[in-house]
Amino acid sequence: MSKKNLHILMVEDSDDDSLLIRHELLEAGYEVVHDRVDTVEGLAAALKSKPWDAVICDHNMPELNSTTALCIVKQSRKDLPFIIVSGSIPDEQAIDSMRTGARDFIRKDNLSRLVPAIEREIEEAAVRNDLRLTREHLMQAMHFDSLTGLPNREHLIEYLSTMTAEGRSELPFAVFMIDLNRFRKITRSLGIEIGNKVLAEVAESLQGAFGNMTLLARCNADRFIAIVECMDGEDQASEVAENLHASLNRVLVADGHELFVTASVGACFYPKDGSDVEALMKNVEAALYAAKVVGGSSFKAYQSAMESREQVGLAMESALYRALKNEEFLLHYQPQFDLSESRLVGVEALVRWRQPDSEIVSPGVFIPLLEETGLIVPVGEWILRSACAQNKKWQDAGYPPVRIAVNLSSIQFQQANLVQTVRNALQETGLAPEYLELEITENIAVHNEEAVIGILEELRSIGIHIAIDDFGMGYSSLSYLKRFPIDKLKIDQSFVRDCNDGAHGDGIIRAIIGMGHSLKLTVIAEGVETWEQIDFLQRNGCDEVQGYFYGKPMPEDEFSSLMKRESMETVL
Ligand code: C2E
Ligand code: MG
Ligand code: MG
Repeated sequence: MSKKNLHILMVEDSDDDSLLIRHELLEAGYEVVHDRVDTVEGLAAALKSKPWDAVICDHNMPELNSTTALCIVKQSRKDLPFIIVSGSIPDEQAIDSMRTGARDFIRKDNLSRLVPAIEREIEEAAVRNDLRLTREHLMQAMHFDSLTGLPNREHLIEYLSTMTAEGRSELPFAVFMIDLNRFRKITRSLGIEIGNKVLAEVAESLQGAFGNMTLLARCNADRFIAIVECMDGEDQASEVAENLHASLNRVLVADGHELFVTASVGACFYPKDGSDVEALMKNVEAALYAAKVVGGSSFKAYQSAMESREQVGLAMESALYRALKNEEFLLHYQPQFDLSESRLVGVEALVRWRQPDSEIVSPGVFIPLLEETGLIVPVGEWILRSACAQNKKWQDAGYPPVRIAVNLSSIQFQQANLVQTVRNALQETGLAPEYLELEITENIAVHNEEAVIGILEELRSIGIHIAIDDFGMGYSSLSYLKRFPIDKLKIDQSFVRDCNDGAHGDGIIRAIIGMGHSLKLTVIAEGVETWEQIDFLQRNGCDEVQGYFYGKPMPEDEFSSLMKRESMETVL
């Protein structure tokens, strides 16, 4: 049988006594590694030098006694069994030492008790250690998010409570709430596992942007909260938000998928916008929600007129039910140009919602609500019919015909009668099918691929065009492209935004254009805002463009004027 190792630190001034103790342990079958020390410095240094199993300490030495030695061991914060072996210690003192942490007391003339005592104490120390680890583990689980390693919501609330507790100095601080845009799209189309990897990467980027001095917590799903001390101005906060947006402005790679995420950011300030946890959390959420309404990489600082997400969300939901009946939805139109001839070739219909006496609400906010409530089906039908009717009206007015693109939500795509709905819209409005394009997103294809291919084939057999919108979000799932009957790829605007600055966008755009052309597809870039982007797209052979540079989404009458101008230029 192999011998067990025992690492014993002996605090002992007599070599003979330490050899005697060592002999006792060897007799019991142990392989003993030991150091002998008898000064304060020697003990402190030895404690650091090795992982010891136990300390055996004499009571009275010229430069050290057992009480001081015990203190030094405790200060080292190591949970080591401390056993006093002495010939001279009075009983009362031995009992006192045990009260303050010595584990046993053995007389030198009765060393037979030594080995059982050491064995018992080492076992107990192991149990204590396990308990400590379990406790630490529990604390970690209770206060930290296992996915990102960041503090969790409970931790954050506790921290905020301390920060706002009465009696604390009145130093201001800012609370930021950060929520990823389109994150649902990622998990829905690529699965929770990839979503989790993205969250872990995002957490790292945010941590980098905030630095170590900020408490950054993950509160739920794709929502983070940060507390930045000594900050009470909107200007400073908006600088921080800009940094955050910049830190996310890169491609994240998860399982070979190249993804792009943006975030909406809201902020409020203590004590100006709230003096307790509840008020701060409510107001930072209202600010975040206001940023979400704007859409994209946006930032809003809290203002007292802002309403909470729940208030707005609930009110909005019931308002949406009325909106269809009250004709509060309208369409805006954004032009699409052929890049080589600079000719107007298409228009995208984008839905808007104007509540009476209220601002126009961004579709980024109400489309998810329409989807959740199922209202997207009747509203989608209305959009389709209105877009077809409008295009026919332009044609009847004598403008050169263009194709109108209509966005389809994946919920609409799951409707059994989609093809019939589209046929009806064309029939009722008299628009020829080749002037209708349906924009779908990559996630439509994830479930039930065969059925999706069947529907797309049927739509195309009527003569309708199919475009993949926001292309590049699920960049690696390219194999389906070959199998899918489609006509056009629409490069996601996040890549266009970044193109021409030597960043990742360049390569992705080139790859999409090359791949699209090899599959005989038309490639359109959306979100085109600058000359540089146009130049880049032109040099790389992109077919069509759409974006603010050419025209923002506009009401019908403005688009009619644009068509008029364009048709005049063509004639001249
Ligand atoms: P999308 O289909 O990708 O539409 C493009 C979005 O980019 C539009 O935002 C448009 O206004 C915006 N955009 C166009 N050019 C530029 C540009 O140069 N720079 C910037 N920064 N943005 C530009 P919008 O209208 O807010 O729509 C957002 C999304 O809402 C759409 O993304 C689409 O997914 C959805 N949506 C809009 N209308 C409809 C609709 O009628 N039906 C359905 N199902 N979804 C819709
Ligand atoms: Mg679209
Ligand atoms: Mg798009």
